Amino acid sequence: MACICPIDLQFAPEISALLQSPPSHETQEYFDNLIAERPCHGVKVKLDGELGKGVYADAEFKDGELVLKDQILVGSQHSTNKMDCFVCGSCFRFIGSIELQIGRKLYFKGLGASSSNHCPSDSSDEEDNSCAIEDANLGECSASVSKGGIALSQEFIESLMGGQLLLPYSEKFSLPSPCPCPGGCGEEFYCSKSCADIDWETCHSLLCSSEKSKPSCRRALSKFVEHANDTNDIFILAAKVIAMTSLRYKSLKEAHLKEVGSIAPRDATVNLSLLLEAWKPVSLGYKKRWWDCIALPEDVENCNEAVFRLQLKELAFESLQLLKEAIFDEECAPLFSLEIYGHIVGMFELNNLDLVVASPVEDYFLYVDDLPGSPKKAAEAVTRPILDALDDGYSICCEGTAFFPLQSCMNHSCCPNAKAFKRDNDRDGQATIIALRPIQIGEEVTISYIDEDLPYEERQKLLADYGFRCKCRKCLEEKAN
Ligand SMILES: [Zn+2]
Ligand SMILES: [Zn+2]
Ligand SMILES: [Zn+2]
Repeated sequence: MACICPIDLQFAPEISALLQSPPSHETQEYFDNLIAERPCHGVKVKLDGELGKGVYADAEFKDGELVLKDQILVGSQHSTNKMDCFVCGSCFRFIGSIELQIGRKLYFKGLGASSSNHCPSDSSDEEDNSCAIEDANLGECSASVSKGGIALSQEFIESLMGGQLLLPYSEKFSLPSPCPCPGGCGEEFYCSKSCADIDWETCHSLLCSSEKSKPSCRRALSKFVEHANDTNDIFILAAKVIAMTSLRYKSLKEAHLKEVGSIAPRDATVNLSLLLEAWKPVSLGYKKRWWDCIALPEDVENCNEAVFRLQLKELAFESLQLLKEAIFDEECAPLFSLEIYGHIVGMFELNNLDLVVASPVEDYFLYVDDLPGSPKKAAEAVTRPILDALDDGYSICCEGTAFFPLQSCMNHSCCPNAKAFKRDNDRDGQATIIALRPIQIGEEVTISYIDEDLPYEERQKLLADYGFRCKCRKCLEEKAN
């Protein structure tokens, strides 16, 4: 397939304007405002570093102290993780109840779809390992899960999900009630009305598959999602970025029209400057096109590199065509170019963007395990068969990918002074950065993108995927030796 996207040809000047970094004073202002909005004011983004941007301490931090909490600009739970964790579509907090979380896990496990699936017939003893998802025998297992001879009936699983059956001590782990998508798609749920409204206004109003949208758009959207799930679920995140930018554009345009009264409907200069403004948060994150920046997998030989990269480009092109059918907007046409799409997808590959939220289900089972003598025995009579059936699935976290505007400005060091770390009360998708040792005012705050305990050469190899060679103190010392 020839990947020639007509939009790339038609809007070349607009696309190159979008891909240019904003002027440094605008970038500085953007980050200053962002920090002022966040609950942590002890840091500053500086633009003069050797690596472009860096985060610096503007206050002293003690060992273990919170340096920064960074909100998600755009994020998404991995498709395969959705069966194990039922979370808010906006802040990624677990929702529903312990019973609902467990019931869903068992239900999907029974259907052979969960990421830690095994078929009951496959597991005859306690030591048995779960089979991987590719081996899952879809459809052959019923929704009743058994392990070690104990069967959990479908009825049991349904009453857990339906809320008729309460587990002992689950009230100590209460979760927010699921609030459905205001558009009525029945696919997205939230921890609160405010999260639902935020997501609707930010991007979901364009990506909602409810009956209210045009049937042709709905069909295209579901094809797009299916394609992403089969190939690379980062495409879903890229769609969110495009939806977010076009919605920001619309609201900037509305404000602008109000301000000036009326303008000629096709004022291209004004429209482009509004589009650039809407795009700004994203423009500070991307670096390279996806098919150019991704590291060559080990099973691809060097001589096949060009073919491999072309295949990625074709995949992105296919995905973009489906997205265009679903949500194309004439005034934001440059956003639907392959060039822009490639850069957005690349942004999520090149930054350190794991989204992780610990599971309250794991906490629940640990709590029961910690109970004294007879209360434990009574509780375990109910929970033990469930735990056996879940196997290691009981502790699966919410996992996804997200873009954190401030965390993504943090440079790497193999002897970092801070790290991303969730404390017990950090229960949503925000990034939390904690000091690993005392940090002085003016010192750069660094985190490690990789396992910093690996040998020198291995570290450099991994860091090459991020596009640089590390020259931190540790690397300089080890290189000298
Ligand atoms: Zn939420
Ligand atoms: Zn919806
Ligand atoms: Zn280093």
